[in-house]
Amino acid sequence: MKPESVKPKVAFFDFAGCEGDQLQVANMEEKILDLIEVVDVVNFREIMTERSDDYDIAFIEGSIASDHDAERLKGIRENASWVVALGSCAAIGGINSIRNAQPYDLVQDRVYGDDADKIEAWDVAKPIDAVVDVDGYVYGCPINQDEFVHVVESLLQGKDPNIPTYPVCVECKMNENVCVFARDPEKNAANIKQAVDNGSPAEAGPFCLGPVTRAGCDSQCVNEGTTCWGCRGLVPNPNENAHQEVLEKYGLSVDEVMNKFNLYFGWQQEELKNEQ
Ligand code: SF4
Ligand code: SF4
Repeated sequence: MKPESVKPKVAFFDFAGCEGDQLQVANMEEKILDLIEVVDVVNFREIMTERSDDYDIAFIEGSIASDHDAERLKGIRENASWVVALGSCAAIGGINSIRNAQPYDLVQDRVYGDDADKIEAWDVAKPIDAVVDVDGYVYGCPINQDEFVHVVESLLQGKDPNIPTYPVCVECKMNENVCVFARDPEKNAANIKQAVDNGSPAEAGPFCLGPVTRAGCDSQCVNEGTTCWGCRGLVPNPNENAHQEVLEKYGLSVDEVMNKFNLYFGWQQEELKNEQ
């Protein structure tokens, strides 16, 4: 539904997360002037003290991890014409979903120790679209400011934002990077084998989640000499859309890559399993 007001009112809300995505928006410097020409920001705890329940577009940061979170999110959904997931935790479960595959008691004990019984949370962290309908997604950890502006402009123009549905490897190849798996072929072959054989990510060497991760970041981590950690989430239908050329070259399967380090994909992987 299109917001009725001429200049839509925008509100930002945070749930379980580090607030780094809101910080990206707060730090937009001159780009934020373009934004406030077309929207009124009425609720943004990081940069203003005013509060309003009258808004058209709600940007949600953080994953949903308790009944209280879910009820609050549903209230926001009722108020807003559009709800947009801001960043990995809201869009895909993100870092918080690391714990989804761990025993709940163990996680509570590790994080809260003797105070664990005071915390009421679900045993899994969920993206916001597991609780309410969502109209748009800004992926990344943290989000990219230009992509944020593009998603806002697309919503206001009634268009679908142009978000890639192919993997990071495609951008990486266009940037002519040396593939992470080829940086030290001999050592890496052993590491890949080790990872495939025993799945011990902490011990493995260079490994890249680019073949299964949604593009849109211009492969920035590989460009800078590190590897893709999967922060933009799985490419849609990874079994069909993963970058086969790299997988075949290094003898990997989609599952082996996805299971390598499950940093951001916890919720998405469970969803995939449930669909199969
Ligand atoms: S696996 Fe990583 S380094 Fe290799 S091409 Fe893909 S994104 Fe680039
Ligand atoms: S390369 Fe991977 S981890 Fe880095 S920003 Fe892109 S999707 Fe995120």
